[in-house]
Amino acid sequence: MPRTVIEPFRVKSVEPIRLTTPEERARRLEEAKLNPFRLRAEDVLLDFLTDSGTGAMSARQWGGIMAGDESYAGAASFFRFEAAVRDLTGYPFVIPTHQGRAAERILFSVATKRGDVVPSNTHFDTTRANLEYGGVEPLDLVIPEGLEPRARHPFKGNIDLARVERLLAEQGGRVPFGMITVTNNSGGGQPVSLENLRAYRDLLRRHGKPLVVDACRFAENAMFVKLREPGQAARTPKAIAREMFSLADGCTMSAKKDGLANIGGFIALRDERWVEAARNLLVLTEGFPTYGGLAGRDLEAIAIGLEEVLEEDYLRYRLRTAEYLGEKLLAGGVAIVEPTGGHAVYLDARAFLPHLRREEYPGWALCDALYLAGGIRGVEIGSVMFGKRLDDGTETYHHHDLVRLAFPRRVYTQSHFDYAAEAILELAARAREVRGVRLVRQSRYLRHFTAELAWA
Ligand SMILES: *Cc1c(COP(=O)(O)O)cnc(C)c1O
Repeated sequence: MPRTVIEPFRVKSVEPIRLTTPEERARRLEEAKLNPFRLRAEDVLLDFLTDSGTGAMSARQWGGIMAGDESYAGAASFFRFEAAVRDLTGYPFVIPTHQGRAAERILFSVATKRGDVVPSNTHFDTTRANLEYGGVEPLDLVIPEGLEPRARHPFKGNIDLARVERLLAEQGGRVPFGMITVTNNSGGGQPVSLENLRAYRDLLRRHGKPLVVDACRFAENAMFVKLREPGQAARTPKAIAREMFSLADGCTMSAKKDGLANIGGFIALRDERWVEAARNLLVLTEGFPTYGGLAGRDLEAIAIGLEEVLEEDYLRYRLRTAEYLGEKLLAGGVAIVEPTGGHAVYLDARAFLPHLRREEYPGWALCDALYLAGGIRGVEIGSVMFGKRLDDGTETYHHHDLVRLAFPRRVYTQSHFDYAAEAILELAARAREVRGVRLVRQSRYLRHFTAELAWA
């Protein structure tokens, strides 16, 4: 029996990708002010910027697109979407949104107030920004191993229960609910165990606080639980995912990740408490409660995607992709976050570029270098994304500088990953030539999206 984990699909429709010359890439990057977010996608060969909304839909999903009911209110597509979310989560109240951050903004607007604190393992950047925008303090309380790029713990996304307990004891009045991100995106795509989720739920419950899951990669998390958590190997990813949701009181979701759709998201809730206020706000900014900023066809694609994403062959291939690239890089001596996460490989930029100071943003510099070297676009998860320029002009820095290579779902094949490995290993051999960068222009929130940089 061959042991190669294959892409469990065949290709029916193709898109060309284009090789560029090093000179052309240097020009394009200068035009983009050294910010990969400002590049044109057509100038990128392997686009590992994000796994968000970049996946390939299945023939069944495209069929669903044609069957989309575009009625303004009460469309059949909404009820199929609602049934799929209910079936998965067990939550009766389902509110569609145009993407994950809209779900966050709406939920936080109705469920938090200025001065609150919301703990999580690690808040994703949009989650953090939406909380801060409302005057709420986001607290990242991942276990210490989760901050150690090379600590080999099977569930590095787990939340540190002792620190949550201390928070609840000392400042419980400020905590409206607890959150947890599965998998822990900003922390390396690392999973959370059922055991940790259950203990967190119990702890919050003792203090009368609900638990809200940021469920963007619930299926990848479920597969990690199956592969790594004692006693879970015989269960289906779907049964595990359902148990994950059963331990919480609601979720925010970006369907652009494990919804296998190109756009969409939702809030789903177990009880009515926040529902009416959330729907009122939804009507104001997203749309009527049965479409929430989406077309009927999008709701169909998500409903089908939520089923397909839990297929075991798909998830096995999905997790193997990151592991495969990770193994090649480790064999070549490149430091990455270990073990590899679900949707991405994270390069440790401080280890890759030891000659750069943190003020030279090694994560960002490595992103730029990867584009120049091989036309590969990744994203910095480091001090440009999470650091800040304070009002007094001082800079804050993130605890690590990583480059995330995130993999669109069902898009690239094994030879693309072989190419990526080769390009990265070649760059590693001449890493000392890589220059640092400095920020020239920045905005107050989510500065990485629009910042302009120059060589340091
Ligand atoms: C992508 C993401 C979000 C935000 O979702 P969008 O659809 O991009 O708005 C929130 N949390 C996590 C963990 C994510 O990965």
